[in-house]
Amino acid sequence: MPELPEVETVSRGLRERVLGRQISEVEVLHPGILVGSPAGFVGGIRGRRVASIERKGKVLALALEAQDGAPVNFLMVRLGMTGQLTVRRREQPLEPHTHVRLALDTGEEEVRFRDARRFGRLRSCTLEELEAVLGRLGPDAQQVTEAEFFQAARARRGAVKGWLLNQRGFSGLGNIYADESLFAARIHPLAQPGRLSRRTLRRLYQSLKKVLRRAVDLQGTSFRDYIDIEGREGNYRQRLEAYGRAGEPCRRCHSAIQRIVVAGRSSHFCPHCQRRPRDAALPTGSHRASKGARHTQFGLS
Ligand SMILES: [Zn+2]
Repeated sequence: MPELPEVETVSRGLRERVLGRQISEVEVLHPGILVGSPAGFVGGIRGRRVASIERKGKVLALALEAQDGAPVNFLMVRLGMTGQLTVRRREQPLEPHTHVRLALDTGEEEVRFRDARRFGRLRSCTLEELEAVLGRLGPDAQQVTEAEFFQAARARRGAVKGWLLNQRGFSGLGNIYADESLFAARIHPLAQPGRLSRRTLRRLYQSLKKVLRRAVDLQGTSFRDYIDIEGREGNYRQRLEAYGRAGEPCRRCHSAIQRIVVAGRSSHFCPHCQRRPRDAALPTGSHRASKGARHTQFGLS
């Protein structure tokens, strides 16, 4: 599913292609992916101009200015698992699972939202509503300072992998970049953040930043569904060292990469480079809790 580097790539694409343009018409083909009513959605964005495009964690927010001086409204987008935003010419055939079309300016081009699995969400909202959603997320993983990172890890029990996925400490990481960051920092996914030494935690912080920076530079990772605004795949997949490589040799030591389930998600790691500490968390400990959290993670309310 799209994580920070993929959403950042989409955000950059939108800034290039959509910033400053007017959303002249709105067509909702499948209201199930909206938060709120279709009428409220259309009314909140039609006729408005895209004044800025921001991202926090995996959430995109387009600020929309009205012509008549009404307060700025926002189009909030979550790509969920398989959501795609693309800019297409109006006459290009509609792909399956296209749920929303936003005509730009004269209508020759449009933004399309597709989502095969429908975990993604579009919402028209006010500044206060946007701030309420973003306020529940920790600092963006690209922006988080070392002090904030240390603070979020303090006294945290449970698996570090689950902690990296939780969007409240800091936001933007998902399964791929959590596994890659832990591999780069040589930390076992079941290590407990609150019990890592300052030195190890600093290594994790630096690895995380490095992995995200490289992934953004390479426009993210594509497995099945992720594409950018022009329909191109990301180029980070070939660089993956742990994620999705179970059974393949570690690029550092040639041990076979292993896969275990932590916090209800697959975790890929090298048993030699990422030693399991004696005070490791139990792999099944947060399984049930995290399942519930996964559902709310995709909601926007
Ligand atoms: Zn290794």
